[in-house]
Amino acid sequence: MTGGEGALAVRDERKAVLAANLAAVGQRVTRACEAAGRDPAGVTVIVVTKFFPASDVRRLASLGVHDMGENRDQEASVKYADVRSDTPGIRLHFIGQLQTNKAPSVASYADIVHTVDRLKLARALDRAASQSGRRLRVLVQLDLDSHPGLEPGNPMGLAGGGPIHPEPGRGGADPMVLPDLVAAIRDSTSLDLGGVMAVAPLGADPDRAFGRLAEFAGQVRDMVPEASWVSAGMSGDLEAAIRHGATHLRVGTAILGSRPPLR
Ligand SMILES: *Cc1c(COP(=O)(O)O)cnc(C)c1O
Repeated sequence: MTGGEGALAVRDERKAVLAANLAAVGQRVTRACEAAGRDPAGVTVIVVTKFFPASDVRRLASLGVHDMGENRDQEASVKYADVRSDTPGIRLHFIGQLQTNKAPSVASYADIVHTVDRLKLARALDRAASQSGRRLRVLVQLDLDSHPGLEPGNPMGLAGGGPIHPEPGRGGADPMVLPDLVAAIRDSTSLDLGGVMAVAPLGADPDRAFGRLAEFAGQVRDMVPEASWVSAGMSGDLEAAIRHGATHLRVGTAILGSRPPLR
């Protein structure tokens, strides 16, 4: 061994990139919290590892990241079975659209499911979690596109805010059904209601979208006081989410780099 050059060759460049990106996101969070008068300790960054390999998850874990997010059952189940065989302490957040028939699989390995948007799915997850003897924390995903004029406190939609750019396919419950969903989860056997989640509609003003989400989060806390999580904000809009009380950010690109386009 010849010293310096050998050491350089085994240096993990990818880990250095991830560390730098984590630090940059951490600074954005700190600044946004300062501007909003919030304690950064109240904001958790979930690193979204979809499309990236198990080796990156291990690097992130070695850099102190505990909260990871995935959006597809097939990818998540394989990748995290591998990672968890040698990496303890990971909390896995399922953040993708979920078909009812995948509920047993997801309930067997996820710690938190952010995307409960219908009664049928809540019931399927409850049954699956009960059968595997686990408790599962779930968030109600809201569709901030539906009834854009119907704000809490303005149930008739009078003087509505006008249409937010519609983007079908991202899922989320119509806010009208929120009380029913919250009650069903509260009264379930094996689910714990964590709070709410949303994705800002594409092309919409994120401040307006997350402002609505904050009001719905308040409605949920009125029913279930401990359901205090607000999962909102991604690489492009995390500052707006923090302004409106997000407790959990879901950040992929800003930490891992851009993903290959969807096939
Ligand atoms: C992929 C994904 C994210 C992360 O988005 P980035 O823009 O890469 O930070 C957040 N939330 C959900 C629901 C996602 O599917």
